[in-house]
Amino acid sequence: MRRRFIEQSFPLKEVSDISRKEKLVRHGHISTLHIWWTRKPLASSRATSYAALILAEDDPAEWNKKQQFIVELSKWENSLNRQIVEKARRDILNANGGKPPRVLDPFAGGGSIPLEALRLGCETHAVEYNPVAVLILKCTLEYPQKYGRVTRIKERVGMVEVERQANRLVEDVKRWGRWVSEESRKELGGYYPEDEDGSIPVGYIWARTVPCQNPSCGIEIPLMPQYWLANKDKKKIFLYPYVDGKQVEFKIVGDGYEPMPKDFDPSKGTVSKAFVVCPACGNVIDDKATRKLFQTGKTGERMIVVVLRKKNSDGKHYRLATERDLEVFRKAEEQLKVKRQKLMEEWGIDPVPDEPLPPKETLGFRVQRYGMFKWGDLFNPRQKLALITFTEKVRQAYKKMIEEGYDEEYAKAVASYLGLGINRLADRNSSLCRLIPQTEAVGFTYSRQALPMLWDYVEMCVYEHPSGWNSVLDETLENLSHLSQIPPVELEEEKG
Ligand SMILES: [Zn+2]
Repeated sequence: MRRRFIEQSFPLKEVSDISRKEKLVRHGHISTLHIWWTRKPLASSRATSYAALILAEDDPAEWNKKQQFIVELSKWENSLNRQIVEKARRDILNANGGKPPRVLDPFAGGGSIPLEALRLGCETHAVEYNPVAVLILKCTLEYPQKYGRVTRIKERVGMVEVERQANRLVEDVKRWGRWVSEESRKELGGYYPEDEDGSIPVGYIWARTVPCQNPSCGIEIPLMPQYWLANKDKKKIFLYPYVDGKQVEFKIVGDGYEPMPKDFDPSKGTVSKAFVVCPACGNVIDDKATRKLFQTGKTGERMIVVVLRKKNSDGKHYRLATERDLEVFRKAEEQLKVKRQKLMEEWGIDPVPDEPLPPKETLGFRVQRYGMFKWGDLFNPRQKLALITFTEKVRQAYKKMIEEGYDEEYAKAVASYLGLGINRLADRNSSLCRLIPQTEAVGFTYSRQALPMLWDYVEMCVYEHPSGWNSVLDETLENLSHLSQIPPVELEEEKG
């Protein structure tokens, strides 16, 4: 048997460079469909699959051409380049007796290898035993191929029947994604109210709190590793803490706000590596004592800042949280109890995930030391309310599709994309989502492959935050549109 190209050589350096750059790609890339920690880059998956499926080349000029071609093929921007992908498919067919080779990935995970095998025209089989991965694989490989083709759709517009070309799967995910947003908003909108001047809240900045352990002080210490809200070249805003009687208060200072105080370093907060310094009396709580306070329920949370979008003014604005903000939040807390009970009765399970987190020795999972033991503990009450309401609406969307006469499998496909979207919303809206002052953006729960403790966090308004549901839906649609454009593989009829 003749050797395969990859056994002879491979443009390792070039493909590695391209794979590294791929991390910055967003639009249409499956990393934005759903997180998978060990997903391989598409560039290396595509290049190695191709090089393993074509034959070694003895002629130096031809060999050189193949090397060059592998580099071009591996580039993200050529993922849907018909000329290049079709040439790759032809080369593979020619090297395999004119029949699409069978490719099996028995540990398919995030789907990079089967996706690229599919792109290269192979008869692709992907196997996984993790149900999350199975769902990702269905949404990546199966549904776009099965339902994502552009077809002629007949529609009635007024009295006339018109025909148009459309990708029905993309249209339905968009339609029902918007439906979920609108329907949930009817219930949740009131928990993210506008300000009186019409400013729209996009997020809320919270700090966890511990009581000062100095008996003659005892104030509630907001845990903040630093005080920056915006730390950009042309926008410097931070919180300035001061003690007023028995309470730590804040001013917002910097560009467009109160004047900056002298001799204050906003990068030095009240907590570092679980060591807490009281801003009132200077008493120190060491890491062990801090954890103990969390484990014994002596800690709290305090909403400190509301992040706003203003009409006729770009960028994010900040104001201190008021009694009204807290009152709205308490109402959301009450509503969570009602909603949770209702859904528990309806579904027969707790809608807030009550499964335990992995044991506290698990690498990188630190939150258990701070009294968070279940997955549901990673969210504040309004975040939980938002997520269970979205989940309910996706289930209702599925029911409505069936009522409208959708095929069951197809309705399941549409609902699956919306379900992946909820997971991504959870990744963006937990009490482990950090404010990033350098960009004023919000960090995701799984910024790293870990769950480290976070002292202060951003709760987003799921409708208005730039990373909220609309952005999740847009990214899902970009993925679907990309995946649907991968041409079908012509397989011979199975015999026997
Ligand atoms: Zn103190």
